[in-house]
Amino acid sequence: YSFDDLNLKPNIVRGIFGYGYETPSAIQQRAILPITEGRDVLAQAQSGTGKTATFTISALQRIDENEKSTQALILAPTRELALQIQNVITHIGLYLNVSVHACIGGTSTLDDVEAFKSGVQVVVGTPGRVLDMVERGVLRTSKIKMFILDEADEMLSSGFKEQIYNIFKLLPTTTQVVLLSATMPQDVLEVTTKFMQNPVRILV
Ligand code: AMP
Repeated sequence: YSFDDLNLKPNIVRGIFGYGYETPSAIQQRAILPITEGRDVLAQAQSGTGKTATFTISALQRIDENEKSTQALILAPTRELALQIQNVITHIGLYLNVSVHACIGGTSTLDDVEAFKSGVQVVVGTPGRVLDMVERGVLRTSKIKMFILDEADEMLSSGFKEQIYNIFKLLPTTTQVVLLSATMPQDVLEVTTKFMQNPVRILV
């Protein structure tokens, strides 16, 4: 495959090439199609495989640019990782009209409130702050169609399990779930059986 063969919007391919990527990595070759088709995907992948661009490209492909509500929610275990993901989304999405907001601890919740007021189509955040915003009704979940958990093993082992479960319960039942994890411990397997429907499994 090349990026031209993945049925992506031309402006995403433009963003990918503009960011300097020439050919899709193994996980990108295998995961982008099923994710963009709306399947639940469980990917066992370490950092360095190109996992961030995999779900970034797929999420951008699935966003309806004309729908200003939140459509994709991405969770990461640390603020730093959330900001890195936001940066990749901004670069690859340069030629799209998609708004992304990092919803992370250690920042003013007023900034979150302002951002959500003006419209956020993609949220990338850490579990605690995201749950807080959902519970306050600031982050509205009714139009969310994709829930992406990056480094799920790290998130579950660092005490975010209850928050993640609570977020899940507040999402539409039809939400697509994409889970990436370097390892597959019991906590991760439990999430996959509880919240994923017939997932495509990818090991890279
Ligand atoms: P990640 O696995 O998301 O941590 O990405 C690892 C590194 O690979 C990052 O520096 C990315 O910018 C880079 N990368 C991801 N996909 C590609 C690609 N298709 N071609 C070249 N570099 C890439």
